[in-house]
Order: sequence, then C-alpha cells, then structure tokens
Amino acid sequence: MARLAQTAGLTDVQQEILATVRDFVDKEIIPVATQLEHKDEYPTQIVEGLKELGLFGLMIPEEYGGLGESLLTYALCVEEIARGWMSVSGIINTHFIVAYMLKQHGTQEQKDTFLPRMALGEVRGAFSMSEPALGSDVSAITSKGVKDGDEYVLNGQKMWLTNGGTSSLVAVLCRSDEGHPEGTAPHKSMTTFLVEKEPGFGEVRPGLTIPGKIDKMGYKGVDTTELIMDGLRIPANRVLGGVTGRGFYQMMDGVEVGRVNVAARGCGVAQRAFELGVSYAQQRHTFGKAIAQHQAIQFKLAEMATKVEAAHAMMVNAARKKDSGERNDLEAGMAKYLASEYCKEVVEDAFRIHGGYGFSKEYEIERLYREAPMLLIGEGTAEIQKMIIGRRLLEEYRFQG
Ligand SMILES: Cc1cc2nc3c(=O)[nH]c(=O)nc-3n(C[C@H](O)[C@H](O)[C@H](O)COP(=O)(O)OP(=O)(O)OC[C@H]3O[C@@H](n4cnc5c(N)ncnc54)[C@H](O)[C@@H]3O)c2cc1C
Repeated sequence: MARLAQTAGLTDVQQEILATVRDFVDKEIIPVATQLEHKDEYPTQIVEGLKELGLFGLMIPEEYGGLGESLLTYALCVEEIARGWMSVSGIINTHFIVAYMLKQHGTQEQKDTFLPRMALGEVRGAFSMSEPALGSDVSAITSKGVKDGDEYVLNGQKMWLTNGGTSSLVAVLCRSDEGHPEGTAPHKSMTTFLVEKEPGFGEVRPGLTIPGKIDKMGYKGVDTTELIMDGLRIPANRVLGGVTGRGFYQMMDGVEVGRVNVAARGCGVAQRAFELGVSYAQQRHTFGKAIAQHQAIQFKLAEMATKVEAAHAMMVNAARKKDSGERNDLEAGMAKYLASEYCKEVVEDAFRIHGGYGFSKEYEIERLYREAPMLLIGEGTAEIQKMIIGRRLLEEYRFQG
C-alpha cells in the first residue's frame, strides 16, 4: 500500500537512521507523550534516549564527534519525532541551530570547544533574538553589548527562549556599537554572543537570570523562558566568529535552516493527525455505518492526505536545495509557510472527525490541536514568510521592460 510522506532517493544509511528513529518514536515517545504533556513535565528519559541515538550530533561533522549527516536527514528525523511529540523536536531544534551557526561561523577555537560536547548532548544550545517588544522586527533589538577591555558587558531583556532553562550555551543577539559609527544600518551593528551558563532557573551566572518557565497553551514539557542580562560580562573570544557586526547575518543563516526544521515539524504533526483521523473514522459508526463510509468524511481524509503529501514534498525540496549548497530562502520560506498552515488545517479536520471526543483530554488529538498554532509563529510568522517569498519572487521575475 502507498503510505504517505515517503522520500525517494535516500541512501541506506539515511533509511537506517530513519527506521531507528521511527521505532524509538513509536516505542518511547508516543506512549508517554500525552501524559507528560498534560503534566508539563520535561521528558528527561526521552532526551537521554535521543543522546544515545546520537541525535544531538546528527549534523555536527564527524571530526567533532557528530554523525555529519545532511539537513535532509536531520529534517526527516525531526518529522518523525514531531509525529510522536512536537515538544521533543523543539528540544533538539535550538541545539541544532546553535551547532549549525558554530559550524558555519565559529572560530576554530569555538568549534573545538563546543562542538564535541554538543555532539554528545553534554552542552545543549538555545538561541535568543526575540525581546518583549519585538519578534518579527529583529532590526529593532535593544539589548546591548559594550566593550570593556577584553570583555563585553551585556544588558537587556530577552523573551521566548526555547530551552532557556535546560540549555548551557545560548547564542544571544545584541546590538554592539563598537567599531560601528552612529547611523550604521541596524543589521550591520549586531553581534552574536556565545553565553555559557548553568542549566536551571534564577541567577545562573553573575549578571544573568532565567526567571522561570512561561506557562503556554501547548508545546509543553519543553521550557520556554525569558533571559535577563544585567551587567553580564562575556570574554571577547565568545563573540561568534570573533568579529562584531555579523550577528544579524549569522542568526538569519541559522533561522533559514530552522525554517526547514519547523516545516518538518508541521509535516510530522500533520501526519500524526491524519493517522488519528483515519483510524477513528473507521471505528466510529453513525447512521448504520463507519463514518469513514460517509463521503463527507472521505473527502476530509482525501484533503488531509493531499496536504500531508504536498507539505512533505516542499520540505524535502527545501532541505535538498540547502544540502546542494544553493541559496534556499525561497524554498524554506514556502515550505515553512505551507507546512505550518496545512498542519493547522489537517489537525482541525482530524479534530472534527473525532466529534465530541476530540475535545476530551483522553484523546491525543486534543494535544495536537493545542500544539499546531506554535508552528504558525516560530521561526517567523506566515506574514514574514510571505514577505520573504514575495521579495525573492520580485528578484527572480524582475520586470525587464
Ligand atoms: C513557544 C514559542 C517559542 C519561541 N522560541 C523562540 C526562541 O527560541 N528564540 C527566539 O529568539 N524567539 C522565539 N520565539 C519568538 C518568535 O520567534 C516570535 O514570537 C515571532 O517571531 C513573532 O514575533 P512577535 O511574537 O513579537 O510578534 P510580532 O512581531 O509583534 O507580530 C504580531 C503580528 O503582526 C504581524 N506582523 C509583524 N510585522 C509585520 C509586517 N511587516 N507586515 C505584516 N504583518 C506583520 C505578525 O505576522 C503577527 O501576526 C518563540 C515564540 C513562541 C511562541
């Protein structure tokens, strides 16, 4: 039987990794996800399992102890994990972005220091751009790093850090005026600082406070926090890449691969919603037959499956483009936009198929219904994706008249 979301042309190694991850998801994540989510409990045992599978080092080069796999392999693993529980994919996602930024932009000393321990999951990454007054408009960042001898002094408040409490390395984007005269474009006067800290809450290092977990409607289990810098002193060798003024580009590079990742999460959640919907539709009877035999429900299933397939194909295309070394901002923006919108729609249809039971916390679809909206926002909202897509289209289709 043709199953949904198959990927042609995978190597034996890729197929083996995916089969292992899928097995782990079916045995270790799905059976406990809803219970842990309802308790907002951190999935410690699952995270230990992911470490053993080497997933924290999936894309980290082999010379640093990782598996050196492609973005496509990574995205397909994320899709599998999100199918089990989206929060678990969130635990890996920010780690992956920080490791990617280090690999692409770090100094040799920074790579040697962090990547081997990140590959083992001993050092865990978070990244921080958003502030209380801004998310989409990154150029408006007000947190500031000011040079003081061999150090930088950081002040400001950050918002919405996924893994803010559990991470030990945060890539923090700040304004840094040093070397950049007044009037420099905002994106040219930003710097990424690599902030090491103890995991936990409260004052985790002098000048750095992680106040506590933000209480969310979904995406539970994984911690999302604020981060307050008050005279936080960072050595100059913890400027990502060793040079100030490049932070905006480094972060945007990280977010671009992050977009493929969010698309993959949308694909995984949508797949699970389809599985739940198609299963329930064959068990529930109304008017003398299984509801799957009513044409209206079959049409819903057909629409859901088509959306799962389309989102998967666009996500795979965006990952492959990046792996080929080409610019993929258009494809990543389209994949993220479509996969997150379709995910919300497929989840809603599966919820409707469940009738009243979809509203009960006993049914998994209730959790998915609260999780899907996060994908509409993280790594850039739909409006921001459309701005990126629109700008790129006008570049490609410039009027020559
Ligand atoms: C659970 C969760 C986890 C997160 N994790 C992280 C993280 O780890 N690190 C991090 O840095 N951030 C993180 N974020 C923040 C996230 O990236 C931002 O919430 C997101 O970018 C949107 O920013 P905002 O919330 O400030 O909304 P705003 O930017 O205030 O936007 C509000 C609305 O206006 C629209 N809008 C804004 N500008 C325009 C425009 N020019 N044209 C048209 N419409 C526009 C938006 O699309 C949106 O609908 C997280 C957020 C959540 C909810």
